[in-house]
Amino acid sequence: MMKYNFHTHSKYDDGSETLEDYVVAAIDKGFKAIGLSGHQPLPFDNQWSIRKQDYPDYLAEARRLREQYKDQIDIYLGLELDYIPGFSDDFRAFRDGAGLDYCIGSVHLVMKPGSDNPDNIWFVDGSLDGYVQGIQAIYGGDVQAAVESYYDQQREMVATQRPDIIGHLDKVNMHNKGNKIFDASAEWYGKAVDRLLDAIAEYGTIVELNTRGVYTGKTESYFPNGDIMKKCLDRDIRVMVNTDAHHPSQLDRHFDAGVALLKKMGFRKMHTPFFEVGL
Ligand SMILES: [Zn+2]
Ligand SMILES: [Zn+2]
Repeated sequence: MMKYNFHTHSKYDDGSETLEDYVVAAIDKGFKAIGLSGHQPLPFDNQWSIRKQDYPDYLAEARRLREQYKDQIDIYLGLELDYIPGFSDDFRAFRDGAGLDYCIGSVHLVMKPGSDNPDNIWFVDGSLDGYVQGIQAIYGGDVQAAVESYYDQQREMVATQRPDIIGHLDKVNMHNKGNKIFDASAEWYGKAVDRLLDAIAEYGTIVELNTRGVYTGKTESYFPNGDIMKKCLDRDIRVMVNTDAHHPSQLDRHFDAGVALLKKMGFRKMHTPFFEVGL
């Protein structure tokens, strides 16, 4: 099976080790391709993005490696771009400004619809406490409104920002083991997912099966879960496997298991932005 990974984080953002460590590890593991996808610099202080002052180095280093190792592996320069309406710069500015090969669009921070106040940003990818407090403080405890705005923001991202890949599209489920926060089998939830998937099908976005939640022990299923992957299959949406590696040793964590799951579900191909792999 041809291996690749287009979702990786180095010490430039919230991963560890250098970009070169990732490239060397990917070559050792026999990968055909690796995509470098650090979190873009954001216009406010945080713990996970590439810092503005390091951004030119990130780009220069990635380009240097792409050239240096071109006979051994295909290296693609990318970013994982957060879409926060009213706050994040347009994805096109990053693509054109940096000459990116591709980008992953992800939502980790949900802006309350109609607001542009940073106090109304709900962080879905942090601690359980922060997650629950956000629903209380920003949405007055209305979980459905909070989760719907998460999906609507992704839909808006797909339609207006046109990422090549959409990252971990049901991450809002991360803290929802056993449906303890909301009922993921409820009709409203399925409809919110359907609206997003319709946009993904329309714009040809690739959905990644992100294995990180499982190998870190945070979740029992990959992002997105089997129900949503089945809906992707029914809509002919293109899919791929990524591990969201934050260390070179995680480059292929659950890659084979993810591929096996896609095959078992009936997918015949995986698609990256640059090539496809038959299953
Ligand atoms: Zn992410
Ligand atoms: Zn990531």
